[in-house]
Amino acid sequence: MSGKITFAMIKPYAVKMGYIGPILAMISEAGFRISSIASTKLSKEQAETFYAIHKSKPFYDDLVEFMSSGAIVAMILEKENAVEEFRKLIGNTDPSKADEGTIRKKYAKSIQSNAVHGSDSDENARLECDFFFSQKERY
Ligand code: ADP
Ligand code: MG
Repeated sequence: MSGKITFAMIKPYAVKMGYIGPILAMISEAGFRISSIASTKLSKEQAETFYAIHKSKPFYDDLVEFMSSGAIVAMILEKENAVEEFRKLIGNTDPSKADEGTIRKKYAKSIQSNAVHGSDSDENARLECDFFFSQKERY
């Protein structure tokens, strides 16, 4: 059965460019409820842990550097079938392959700096939500 929550992040370059507002508008217009939200900055260690699954990839070190380079916005989003629905809204990892109307098509700069993160499974959504938010920060 598919779950009702996913974890989302607005990545450093998109925050720096002032895209928080337009990205949050797209998320709301797509019917997600933002049940938790925080502006924060990842330490290098937190970025390493968050992306540990990609440790063996050639882009890992640069990714960790980039993700800890500036402020990010972390969110828990609620909707039926949230993980899949949000992946549809953000589009392909590589913005040059992302469909029109997706967040990455509109706001990504590159495959690394692709504006937003979205969980890829219910299990990872749960882990990622727990990584950022305590129970009392969820409404
Ligand atoms: P997604 O974010 O779409 O789930 P992945 O989980 O495969 O994509 O990768 C995690 C993140 O690592 C991407 O969002 C992107 O920031 C970065 N990344 C992925 N592939 C590359 C690549 N080939 N070169 C540089 N960065 C990459
Ligand atoms: Mg992923």
